[in-house]
Amino acid sequence: MKTAAKPLGLYVHIPFCKQKCAYCDFYSLSGNEGLMDDYTDALCAHLTETAPFAAGHTVDTVYFGGGTPSYLGEKRLVQILKTILKKYRVDRHAEITLEANPDSAGDQKALKALRKAGFNRVSLGMQSACDEELREIGRVHTMDQVRAAVEAARKAGFDNLSLDLIYGLPHQTQDRWAANLAAAVDLAPDHLSCYGLKVEEGTPLYTRRDDAGLPGDDEQADMYLYTVDYLRRFGYFQYEISNFARTGRESRHNLKYWTLGEYAGFGPGAHSDFGDVRYAYEKDLAGYIRGVREGTPMLSENDRIPPMDRDTEWLMLGLRTVRGLDPKVFEQRFRRRFSMFLPFLTQCEQAGYAVYEEDRWHLTPKGFLVSNQIIGGMLDVLAEDKRRRTEAAARGDFRVRLD
Ligand code: SF4
Repeated sequence: MKTAAKPLGLYVHIPFCKQKCAYCDFYSLSGNEGLMDDYTDALCAHLTETAPFAAGHTVDTVYFGGGTPSYLGEKRLVQILKTILKKYRVDRHAEITLEANPDSAGDQKALKALRKAGFNRVSLGMQSACDEELREIGRVHTMDQVRAAVEAARKAGFDNLSLDLIYGLPHQTQDRWAANLAAAVDLAPDHLSCYGLKVEEGTPLYTRRDDAGLPGDDEQADMYLYTVDYLRRFGYFQYEISNFARTGRESRHNLKYWTLGEYAGFGPGAHSDFGDVRYAYEKDLAGYIRGVREGTPMLSENDRIPPMDRDTEWLMLGLRTVRGLDPKVFEQRFRRRFSMFLPFLTQCEQAGYAVYEEDRWHLTPKGFLVSNQIIGGMLDVLAEDKRRRTEAAARGDFRVRLD
């Protein structure tokens, strides 16, 4: 009997940007356009040589992220996607996403070529509807370019479009954020990602953080709660801490990350979780090109994770989603009782941070605001249970088990 092919997501990292944004700590480089052709060839070669390892899988999501994938230009993007479609078994209904910045995604002809090649979802980095805010954080586009890019994408046949926004920007008021959100909803996207600004060490914004007029934690929290409520009223349902979608338009690729699905990443800094091995490539563009060409080492991480050791991740990632945690799945997957978490979860429920409905536990919007603390509490319970089991096993007492 034939066994069904396992689903697999592919992530392709495009580490080029026209200019670095003031808050950005992703692996991306400006001023390296001269390496775009070599990089495209290296990616195609790497995808080709990896394909036999995915022979038992069907690719059901492909995600080109960055950096700024649209900055690579449609010819190179099509070349990479064609390689994937030729070398991998790709589902007819696969979700194929291109991250794009509004300044490099307004060309209708290019978008049509991308749509024709198989891309069927665009994720646009809008970030704000206010040109002054965009300039302040070093974005190279304007709100007019956002509108033009959305119109061009729709005309090119993209019926699945997402916008990224950031709240908590320098000098941003609650009213300003509300106006940004309204402007985004006016563009009728199918999906929205709304992230609170994090000031990461090593970024230009970090250096000037004290004079940047950054909203405080309470103001950011108000913006977040406003967002959840506002978007719900316009038919965008929250399905993850920072992600909202019309029904059926959730990002299938990102859902893989949160549900421990398998994915293989390509490019410097890309992560993979494939065949029980978690690995990542060095954040080194030239090193990656050389690695593919000459077989020199490119990995920065390479860990085999036995399925039973994935309980921590399962809890952490599950609590980010609105579907939350299914106790039965936990017990079947990890052979341990979920009831160990109930005293803690009940406390969270009483404080309005968590709810139990339809046989699952999930956080409320108020709970998402303190998700790090709640996840920390859950991991403490898990660690205590493991300690108890280890001690019992050392005593030769094997009664500590699921039933
Ligand atoms: S466009 Fe995105 S990846 Fe590039 S510098 Fe700005 S935030 Fe970073």
